[in-house]
Amino acid sequence: MNLTRIINGRVIDPSQQIDRPDELWLKGDRILGVGPHPSLQATRTIDAAGKIVCPGLIDMHVHLREPGREEDETISTGTAAALAGGVTSVACMPNTEPAIDSQAAAEFVHLQAQRAGNANVFPVGAITKGREGKELAEMGGLVEGGAVAFTDDGSPVVSAEIMRRAMEYCLMFDKAVLSHSEDLELTRGAVMNEGFESMRLGLRGYPAAAEEIMVFREIALAELTGARVHILHVSTAGSVELVRSGKRRGVRVTGEACPHHFTLTDECLRGFDSNFKMSPPLRTRKDADAILEGLCDGTLDVLATDHAPHAPEKKMRELDQAPNGIIGLETFLPICVQALIETKRLTWPQMIEKMTINPARVLGIDRGTLQAGAPADVTVIDPDAEWTIDPKQFRSKSRNTPYAGWRVRGRAHLVLVAGVVKYDRDTSLP
Ligand SMILES: [Zn+2]
Ligand SMILES: [Zn+2]
Repeated sequence: MNLTRIINGRVIDPSQQIDRPDELWLKGDRILGVGPHPSLQATRTIDAAGKIVCPGLIDMHVHLREPGREEDETISTGTAAALAGGVTSVACMPNTEPAIDSQAAAEFVHLQAQRAGNANVFPVGAITKGREGKELAEMGGLVEGGAVAFTDDGSPVVSAEIMRRAMEYCLMFDKAVLSHSEDLELTRGAVMNEGFESMRLGLRGYPAAAEEIMVFREIALAELTGARVHILHVSTAGSVELVRSGKRRGVRVTGEACPHHFTLTDECLRGFDSNFKMSPPLRTRKDADAILEGLCDGTLDVLATDHAPHAPEKKMRELDQAPNGIIGLETFLPICVQALIETKRLTWPQMIEKMTINPARVLGIDRGTLQAGAPADVTVIDPDAEWTIDPKQFRSKSRNTPYAGWRVRGRAHLVLVAGVVKYDRDTSLP
């Protein structure tokens, strides 16, 4: 059995409130524990001096596009991008073609992930058949096939009655419902946030209310059913407040923030660049500040990217024709470091908690921890590495990032999945 010893690092594991210089031992594909083992002989020693050693990062909001849109991303390229970003586990959204709405579809994702041999992939099942919002998907079969949660992401579930029943099933399976909260009648033809900037540019806008109405509904339904609901990509100040007050009442609601929603605003659309177009859209400074506040006070539990690859020819269309979404896996860590650590809003353990154990708990997966016996998924971060984001060097198939050219600090140095080194910055230089 391989014994790996990672020494001289700052070990951070929020699941055990660990933040100290220490060593981490791995035995085969499992964590042996944090702390020295003088009686054991390591087969391999990794020097992590000056680095942070933490549980492998989890991104619970990723679009891998396979099956159906392999020109944008595949399970293989998306998980390679994940590793380069320090992410060892992704949850992939079911808005593929066909949708992940059956046991066979979930099993296909697992099979392709195994073939690729990169990061772990946890499929999220569709709530309704074909994500059409009409009939519940085979949720029991999806759970059998490995689905860890349910969503129609990309779209909301329009019918409150169907959402109620979905929550009742999810409660039975102890799975969370992940909500893309959007009232479609209020966002028809929308390109960007509705407000001063959209008026100035003469573009149709998404009012904040279109999101908040649905966030309110989801929380009310979670309260009614007792189910767990996770609000994906919270983008408005009002949504943050709804999640906050829901938590205060004891509703089982969690909230997610994506880096673009707290680092960019709707003013970025002035150049009509579709790399700033996504749903929900970039909002105002006031909304971004409210999201930062929600991350600080614990209202927003999870950091996730909503990695949404689109081939260049699609994103190059006119702003109103271009598809929504940006990629995020390979910029996740440094953009969060810049907005959260360098500004001293969060400490490293507080930020890592939202990228490891918190998403693991929402999904109910045994990841995001360095506890003895857990799978040996480990990310070694170089917090001081300075670099410039260059989309040409991405492992993702797509290039649709708003962060090209940004000077940033912090990146994955070494990434292990089940005890095997899957990414090594020193040997993976472009
Ligand atoms: Zn969404
Ligand atoms: Zn999404």
